[in-house]
Amino acid sequence: MKLGLQGKAVFVTAGSQGIGLAAARAFHAEGAQVAICARSESSLAEAEALMPGCLALRADLTVADEVERACAAVLDRLVRVDVLVNNAGGPRAGAFDELTDGDWDQAVNLTLMSAIRATRAVLPGMRANRWGRIINISSYGTKQPVPGLTLSNSVRMAVLGWAKTLSTQVAADNILVNTVCPGWTRTARLEKVLGHGDPEQASAAEREVAADIPLGRFAEAEEVANLVVFLASEAASYITGTSIAVDGGITKGYA
Ligand code: NAD
Repeated sequence: MKLGLQGKAVFVTAGSQGIGLAAARAFHAEGAQVAICARSESSLAEAEALMPGCLALRADLTVADEVERACAAVLDRLVRVDVLVNNAGGPRAGAFDELTDGDWDQAVNLTLMSAIRATRAVLPGMRANRWGRIINISSYGTKQPVPGLTLSNSVRMAVLGWAKTLSTQVAADNILVNTVCPGWTRTARLEKVLGHGDPEQASAAEREVAADIPLGRFAEAEEVANLVVFLASEAASYITGTSIAVDGGITKGYA
């Protein structure tokens, strides 16, 4: 299958680790020009070493100025952004009673506004080129709520509503907007969260969770990245305004 991504300019936010890094590496392997941003200089340097020629920028996605500055720097260096992958860390877990206005503001800034701000910055160029792909990394929690993830379950639905609406407004310019919804995906951070630093505890916790996943295991980040790259490609030219789970079948409804 011809993906047609050679030479495309791709910006993956929060692209230094986990699913974002896997997506950035997959685009890099396809011959795309890749830019990433993240908060930590050390993780950016590690990611850059894996992707020669990659543009790696420091930015906190919860801060409007920093998102705008990062997008401007990418446009300056790559001239255009053909593919924007809106990725970020997830909002904190917690039951409704535990959450403050500050937590809600933080979640909205991280999960919704970062995507809106980055999209706003790159959209004029996509419109001028009459070609673009906007791909949001979300969660299977948009298909069925994940217990305890009040912020994630709520704010990610706003991203879906925004993305669906936007898809209708930019389709005439040949810009496709889609959302990828990972299920449990093995990343360094998830292993730390599950195991509290103990790899054996992490494996035991993973086995327990995996018992509820029809495919019986967590995803590798590359398995999520495969869909991201496909949606960015020429092969996905008639797919827009949708959200697709990569969840090993854990979603119980007709996702
Ligand atoms: P991860 O924690 O491995 O990586 C997240 C990346 O986001 C890191 O590079 C981190 O530095 C960056 N980041 C976090 N906050 C940031 C900020 N304010 N500014 C800039 N960068 C920031 O996460 P992941 O597992 O790759 O997940 C990616 C997305 O997919 C998240 O939204 C996550 O909630 C979602 N998701 C993950 C899973 C899973 O099992 N891994 C499941 C469902 C949804």
